[in-house]
Amino acid sequence: MPAPIDALRAAADRCVACGLCLPHCPTYGDSLNENESPRGRIALLRATAEGALQATPAVVAHIDRCLGCLACEAVCPSHVNYAAILRDGRALLAREVTPSRRAWLRRLLIRSVDRPGAIAAAYAAARLISRLPIPRAWRGPLATVLRGLPARARPPLACTEEVDHANVALFLGCTADLDRATLNAAIRVLRATGQAVDIPRTQGCCGALAAHAGLADQAHHQALRNLRAFEGRAPALVAIASGCAAQLRDYDPAAGARFPQVFDIHRYLVERTDLDRLRLLPRRQTIAVHDPCSLRNALKGERYVYELLARIPGARVLALPGNGTCCGAAGDYFLREPARAQALVAAKAAAAAASGADIIVSANIGCALHLSASLARAGCTLPVLHPLVVLDQQLPPSQDAC
Ligand code: SF4
Ligand code: SF4
Repeated sequence: MPAPIDALRAAADRCVACGLCLPHCPTYGDSLNENESPRGRIALLRATAEGALQATPAVVAHIDRCLGCLACEAVCPSHVNYAAILRDGRALLAREVTPSRRAWLRRLLIRSVDRPGAIAAAYAAARLISRLPIPRAWRGPLATVLRGLPARARPPLACTEEVDHANVALFLGCTADLDRATLNAAIRVLRATGQAVDIPRTQGCCGALAAHAGLADQAHHQALRNLRAFEGRAPALVAIASGCAAQLRDYDPAAGARFPQVFDIHRYLVERTDLDRLRLLPRRQTIAVHDPCSLRNALKGERYVYELLARIPGARVLALPGNGTCCGAAGDYFLREPARAQALVAAKAAAAAASGADIIVSANIGCALHLSASLARAGCTLPVLHPLVVLDQQLPPSQDAC
């Protein structure tokens, strides 16, 4: 196993500096600054890893402004593993550069993800702030985005249990406690296709937030906890949020030989279940699909969402224009770079409003909340739902397995 710096240099060496990725990079398109492009960031991180460039706050700023959307990786003819370069580069910079006060606060917040109830408490506080009669500019991006969350009713988990001989284990992720509607919908749809669903209690955060902040040790410990929690429990592990699926898929396979095969839930439903068991009720509506970057660029699995929704009789399913460009949610990017994130999502919201759709769907809760907040700012009441929620709504009562 190569050390991260050797691996970073080897991955960066694949870049032939052709520049074909540049037109696809939102931050380069915005700034026309080479340091804000994939090619420039690869060069910065390679030089830093080789010791030819000092790791400075300026280098950190160029890397921090990367969305991690992987639109560059998706079009690269040399198959440069930009995701690995970014992950190892962020870890290198986190080790070498004294964190600013903002970076220190970010790390503190991300470390709190592991404490039971911490996320729910943080979200409750942010939701309270979002509902106070204070000017929008003072609320902060988190409180604004959280206005899109459904009322904080916490229905019990549908059929929550640890199951022996399950077909599939379910990954909850940090947001499951906040969005029980989507979680319950996923459980019901899986069960309606005949799946026995196991939900191990000792699972935790997938580690994506820590990895994106360069906190490699924390991400490693979170991976180890999940490797232990899911080891040998079921042949497949599904994640409801595509961002979690992308992170789980990248766990070191050598660390857990009996770790299940990881799927985004849409792909699992299409490839591993009998969808003919779903007798979906008609829905004569137009559904516009937002492709999260994690699903489109990291997992290359966006088509499964369209395939599932197309099974709803009467539904017209179309792609949201501009799906190749990130919406700006990007983990905690919308908190760190609110102006750029809002500019990106405003274009999505305009496309959604003009699409003639009755519903927008997105397979990643962060993207859904970010887009929902932008639509609300523009005075548009279009609902943004998870695709599994739409499918669940079309299950006849007799198929409502829980
Ligand atoms: S990352 Fe790929 S597409 Fe971009 S400059 Fe390097 S080789 Fe070319
Ligand atoms: S991940 Fe996205 S923002 Fe970052 S360099 Fe690649 S295209 Fe640009």
